[in-house]
Amino acid sequence: MKITSSVHMVGGSNLTSQMDCCVYLLEAKGKLILVDAGAGQDVKGLSDNIAEAGYDLSDIDILLLTHGHIDHIGGAWVVKKASGCEVVAHEGDKRAIEGYDCSKTAADVYGLEYRPVKVDRTIGDGEALIPGEQDGVLNAIHIPGHTPGSLALVYDPGGIEAKVLFAQDVHGPLSDEWGSNREEWQRSLARLLSVGADVLCEGHYGPIRSKERVESFIRGFL
Ligand SMILES: [Zn+2]
Ligand SMILES: [Zn+2]
Repeated sequence: MKITSSVHMVGGSNLTSQMDCCVYLLEAKGKLILVDAGAGQDVKGLSDNIAEAGYDLSDIDILLLTHGHIDHIGGAWVVKKASGCEVVAHEGDKRAIEGYDCSKTAADVYGLEYRPVKVDRTIGDGEALIPGEQDGVLNAIHIPGHTPGSLALVYDPGGIEAKVLFAQDVHGPLSDEWGSNREEWQRSLARLLSVGADVLCEGHYGPIRSKERVESFIRGFL
């Protein structure tokens, strides 16, 4: 599913496995970036959808993991194996992603066994996804709340192009088991509102288009 000229949705409960989060593919600054990997239950479907968008799974340069839940990271090892991509996440969810704290992955909720992947690089609030590219086109926002290390990515190509916010599990839910924090979550939602995105790529609701709809979607949880 094409979202903008450079953003596609290539995985999700209606596109691949029912257990998958929405998986987004973005080509920017000469890099092919996958935002989350899904649960890893329908790798063929994910790979076919990437091909339909005009790319190949093996071409992925960066896999950004927005947080450590299995519906987002379960397929990470497959993407890494197929492409040799760099796996990027926030320090706060690194232990879950690397398999040291499996209660934080929600694998039990899904009844899946998690196969861990190494985080090659961590990024924090305000940092550029691509090292050395400090022009504000592809920047991370740390949005703790759903999990301690939840990350959003803002893609702002400028001009008349849409500003796209990849914020994944904006809607929550919250659980003590995952280290969720309601106050931090509300603060993070307020920060996401301040981005003024034209498109919100959500983790389970799919793409939400237009500034007004994005705003009212986020406000709905505040
Ligand atoms: Zn999710
Ligand atoms: Zn989640």
